[in-house]
Amino acid sequence: MEGASRIAADWFDGRSARARPVEAWLDGATLHFGERSAPLAEVTWPERQRHGQRQILLPGGGVLSFADAEAFDAWAHTSGRSDSVVVRWQQSWRLAGLSLLLLVAMLAAGYRWGLPWAVNTAVDALPPAAERTIGERLLEGLDAEWLKPSKLPAASQLAWLQRWEAMLAKARANGSSAMPARFEIHFRDGGERLGPNAFALPGGDVVVTDALLELLADEPDAALTVLAHELGHVRYRHGLRLMLHAGTISVVASVIVGDFSALLAAAPAVLAGSAYSRDNERQADFYARELARAGGVDTSRMAVFFERIAKRHAVVDENPIAIAISTHPADAQRVRFFSEN
Ligand SMILES: [Zn+2]
Repeated sequence: MEGASRIAADWFDGRSARARPVEAWLDGATLHFGERSAPLAEVTWPERQRHGQRQILLPGGGVLSFADAEAFDAWAHTSGRSDSVVVRWQQSWRLAGLSLLLLVAMLAAGYRWGLPWAVNTAVDALPPAAERTIGERLLEGLDAEWLKPSKLPAASQLAWLQRWEAMLAKARANGSSAMPARFEIHFRDGGERLGPNAFALPGGDVVVTDALLELLADEPDAALTVLAHELGHVRYRHGLRLMLHAGTISVVASVIVGDFSALLAAAPAVLAGSAYSRDNERQADFYARELARAGGVDTSRMAVFFERIAKRHAVVDENPIAIAISTHPADAQRVRFFSEN
């Protein structure tokens, strides 16, 4: 292609340790390096967020190494290689150690015993790092579409995080040990559309909107209980389960062998259209009530949250993110749950 952008790389042929300096460029679906080339579909593209140098794995065992990660990212971008999350994803993930046998067994068992069984198997088989990457990609998509950076002052964000950490520290001191290995609170402006809201993504990213924290500025215990509820969804990996349930057996099976392209392609639609099951909600509520109380938080203040959110969302009832807390049914029983012993 005329004017295709070129970049310096070191080529290792996979047999000797000798690095050969080459120029690399993309031409349609072909990666050229020096005199050689490989179809893009057969190379493993580096993960974008990995720090340090970038390496493209070539078919047949060779490696193209790029010492300057920033230059590589810029080159990948101008070459149109960072546009498609799905393509990037598809070519960057190869999970080692999950055998084809498992896939075949799962397909057979899935058809035999049904999707829920297969989903649980896939959830158990999926490494946390892969789940986390799913969440990161989803958050990127949501940031591009629905979310804006938080407008809360930094001091206010810090104060919320400190309250949250204090609750967790106290809960831990009181013997509450069932916390997920990894989670992170993200502050975002969700605009009118999302309103006061919070939701958890696979892998432990919990998003809370400015409007929710403003709505509950005078009710920190309610806000902390909402966040604890979202942590419950993280703890039980509900987001991942939901996405897999909404897929097909073949999607679930492909996840087990480390191909997430189908899952990722369907993910935004799943997020928009599928709510958690009532069982999952109840599980997250139980988790939240126990954790928050162990952390010294008065969970009965949830009644105020439900009351205020009902007023607010009676007007704006269509939510682009179906797993968000504002879409959860808050019947009298649920309100009572957070007050009773
Ligand atoms: Zn929920």
